[in-house]
Amino acid sequence: MTSTTSSTELFSRAQQVIPSGVNSPVRAFGSVGGTPPFLTSAKGALLQDADGREYVDLVGSWGPMILGHANEQVVEAVREAAGRGLSFGAPQPGEVSLAEEVVSRIGPVEQLRLVNSGTEATMSALRVARAATGRDVIVKFAGCYHGHVDALLAEAGSGVATFAMPGSAGVTAATARDTVVLPYGDRDAVAALFAERGGEIAAVITEAAPANMGVVPPLEQDGIGFNRFLSETAHAAGALLISDEVLTGFRASRTGYYGVDGPHGTGTGTGTGTGTGTGTGTDAAWAPDLMTFGKVIGGGLPVGAFGGRKDLMGLLAPAGPVYQAGTLSGNPLATAAGLATLAGLDEAAYETLGSASRTLQQLVADAFTTAGVPHVIQRAGTLFSVFFREQPVETYEDAKAQDTDAFARFFHAMLEGGIYLPPSAFEAWFVSTAHTPEMLDRIAEVLPGAAAAAARG
Ligand code: PLP
Repeated sequence: MTSTTSSTELFSRAQQVIPSGVNSPVRAFGSVGGTPPFLTSAKGALLQDADGREYVDLVGSWGPMILGHANEQVVEAVREAAGRGLSFGAPQPGEVSLAEEVVSRIGPVEQLRLVNSGTEATMSALRVARAATGRDVIVKFAGCYHGHVDALLAEAGSGVATFAMPGSAGVTAATARDTVVLPYGDRDAVAALFAERGGEIAAVITEAAPANMGVVPPLEQDGIGFNRFLSETAHAAGALLISDEVLTGFRASRTGYYGVDGPHGTGTGTGTGTGTGTGTGTDAAWAPDLMTFGKVIGGGLPVGAFGGRKDLMGLLAPAGPVYQAGTLSGNPLATAAGLATLAGLDEAAYETLGSASRTLQQLVADAFTTAGVPHVIQRAGTLFSVFFREQPVETYEDAKAQDTDAFARFFHAMLEGGIYLPPSAFEAWFVSTAHTPEMLDRIAEVLPGAAAAAARG
């Protein structure tokens, strides 16, 4: 498609009628500066903007486009579904198939409900947890992002981190009082909080592997992973564990991050540095009580989901007392896109993804090392991010201590060279199965110059 309206013109028009010109804050390029390109089409790993420029995409719509853009099977499934009607507001076969696919892949999920975003998924999971326990307090970790749910915005990652916001205005004091924020990975802080207030805590919510302050994989201690520790600590106090896999689900591995560090996990591919991780997973049975999903299960259309133990999910209306609903939930186009995407994600697809991710990590490490840019690359399964500091990042405080100015210089040099990165130092980089060696070669050509720009402080 050719366009006669430039990104600059579009951004100026947008700013008149849309707050800051965008419908989600990070898109405004606020932390890196400049005008965001307005995108007009995408195919495979390539994006086209309104100015006629082409980019290799490393954002992937923040996760959903794991098979690349306009994947033929996914587009065909949506086209076919659209021909049968856009929305029924009544049960339809696709939602059953999508729930069956998730339940078959993710052990702890016995039942699943579909919603329209990750935010809705975490918000609903909190409501179920509070109803199940009759308690109010939610524990979250600094740097973890769970969508723009009132109770979960304190010290959140993603855009909240990008703009260095402590939380959000408009959240009531009562809501803030019911949320306790702890440093990620701090087992002593978790134990102390439970010792003091265990009887008030409804649930601990955590990203299965935090990826919204950059990727900060959970660490093992005495052979026990952080997620398992949280599950055991919460359960000992009658509280629940909610594992948020909106970002990691069906991306970190075929079975999400739970497939990496759960009881039957492979334990591989987690950790810092650029080599292959050597974790072993653990044999002891443990499971989150509730899990949340989004992004990949919608294949680019608006889908979220929450699921878990049958007794907990049975609390939902109409059988139970917890109200939760949605006009477009289980929408036939969205379930068609999600199903076609999951159908494309077989073992071979994860191998392609893993290989593209490892190659890219190595290219970045080589370019940064040559240019003398302090960096550390961290990963969780096939997901990774690059921090502009030398020391490993274990907490949000560590993540904030990186050189975001160097990132901004790097970002703009990459963009200029036709590589579209997340416009924030706190985000993961997203590869897809469409990141072929040719696409990686294009990135490799631009990296050395961009690394040199980052180094010119
Ligand atoms: N949870 C996590 C871990 C996320 O990464 C996100 C979005 O980035 C959300 C929840 C919110 O999802 P959505 O943007 O679909 O509301």
